[in-house]
Amino acid sequence: MTERGLLIVLSGPSGVGKGTVRKELFSQPDTKLQYSISMTTRSPRDGELDGIDYFFKSREEFENLIEADKLLEWAEYVGNYYGTPVDYVEETLQKGKDVFLEIEVQGALQVRKAFPEGLFIFLMPPSLSELKNRIVTRGTESEDLINNRMKVAREEIEMMDAYDYVVENDKVELACDRIMSIVTAEHCKRERV
Ligand code: 5GP
Repeated sequence: MTERGLLIVLSGPSGVGKGTVRKELFSQPDTKLQYSISMTTRSPRDGELDGIDYFFKSREEFENLIEADKLLEWAEYVGNYYGTPVDYVEETLQKGKDVFLEIEVQGALQVRKAFPEGLFIFLMPPSLSELKNRIVTRGTESEDLINNRMKVAREEIEMMDAYDYVVENDKVELACDRIMSIVTAEHCKRERV
């Protein structure tokens, strides 16, 4: 029987650079991780593609997915729904492959309940002022939305103790190295038992 894959959850406050770290991890040609593309009701940003960055859905479509139990977790975040398709995650783990989720904190806490054996990594900004700086520099959001994201970020940072590891995102390459070292170590630990 194939050994089940590892469910790896990368979470942390919006603006910390989860997306950038994830893209860097997946740009490695030898990566064995499988990225689970999320569903969202937010509009695509410039350059974002349906089925690559997200599956973009209407609120009605998303609510139907919730009703039909098609989501492993979901959260309403700054006015939009985000969620993880459960079938993809289950099927990929069954094949013995590691699945990587990049999600916000409420969703990660739901996944922790469904998959207590998962590997939960919290990405930390070097400081709160640096975090605000990153959200502002991204330049895609209004003042109100930035303040809202900062408020959510402060609440999210308080949840860090629920995670197995905290990784500082001072430099993307360093954060990726730390994450891959954690994944390797976790495999060594689990394969021993
Ligand atoms: P953004 O709108 O900046 O792409 O994402 C906003 C937040 O939603 C980020 O913290 C991102 O990690 C999170 N997110 C993306 N996909 C999912 C998902 O499937 N579930 C949950 N709970 N959060 C998600």
